[in-house]
Amino acid sequence: MIVGNEGWGGLSLALAYAQYLNCENPTESDSCGTCKACKKYQALAHPDLHFVFPVVKTPKNSKPFSSDFFAEWKNFVKSTRFHSLEQWLKFIGYENAQPSIYVHEAEEIIRTLSYKAYEGKYKVMIIWKPEKMNIAAANKLLKIIEEPPERTIFLLVTSDLDAILPTIRSRTQIIQLTPLSAEDLVSALRQEFPDASMPDIEQAARAAGGDFITAKKFLQEILASDESTHYFDLFVKTMRIAYSANPLHIIDNAEELATMDKEKLKQFLAYCLHFMRQSFMINQNLKQISQLTQKELNFAENFSRFINRKNINHFSVEFSKAIRDLERNGNSRLIILDLLFTTSKLLKIK
Ligand SMILES: [Zn+2]
Repeated sequence: MIVGNEGWGGLSLALAYAQYLNCENPTESDSCGTCKACKKYQALAHPDLHFVFPVVKTPKNSKPFSSDFFAEWKNFVKSTRFHSLEQWLKFIGYENAQPSIYVHEAEEIIRTLSYKAYEGKYKVMIIWKPEKMNIAAANKLLKIIEEPPERTIFLLVTSDLDAILPTIRSRTQIIQLTPLSAEDLVSALRQEFPDASMPDIEQAARAAGGDFITAKKFLQEILASDESTHYFDLFVKTMRIAYSANPLHIIDNAEELATMDKEKLKQFLAYCLHFMRQSFMINQNLKQISQLTQKELNFAENFSRFINRKNINHFSVEFSKAIRDLERNGNSRLIILDLLFTTSKLLKIK
């Protein structure tokens, strides 16, 4: 029983250990990585490697087995070295479902393991998240976990030891994992986020307490906030040019915005609209309920005198319309150009 946070890599350790057990040329400390058995393990295609993991009932499948989800599972396992249940459910598209290891699955485990090993030294059954087994399933497995068939290894991987039935727990040998080092976190983050900057990665790693899943969430937040900083700078620039009312500058600005990816452009226009509504609240002396950051607020304090009762609805209509037109695959350049000239006029309304 491998015990540790999801972000400590328990499933990857179980796999590496299972591969080591079956490697044809193992060294003192690791599998060779190149023999036939290792290759099959890396592809998750070794005939003596078995997996059980939580699955969900679907409209078409009221009696789901792990094997029904094996194609998705393979991709999920290979997609990262740190596996979370949340991510798994996203992977199969059932984020709000109640995942479980069912009693019919326990019967399947016993059936699978009663065959002889075909080609490996050991048969390995990896059970990911045994805490998701219901009592009936767990009871079915007591005997085989206590006395497994010859050369058969059970590797259970859990992030919640307390949720596992004592009868199961007491039949296993506990291997307690520890948090990752900051260096390991940094190198794992670099692998999964090759485009992120080192300072952002280091900041996320420092704050994560040795847990990769947490580090990943922090990094995603950092990257997302970089995006809003970017939108803010772009917004300030766009409003200044619109206010200047210089047609050549407006055209250049429209050209620049139109080169953005369409989804990003829609997000940016939504951001503009949000900023204008917030500025209108400040204009109406409702600063205390505005949702702007300090940096945004500093700009909005001045900018808000241009957003008033006479033009806020026009801005709302025009920006919403531009977003809709982009969704309908209109010509970005024309849509933006039109919007910027309108904005230029609306900003002058007092
Ligand atoms: Zn090998």
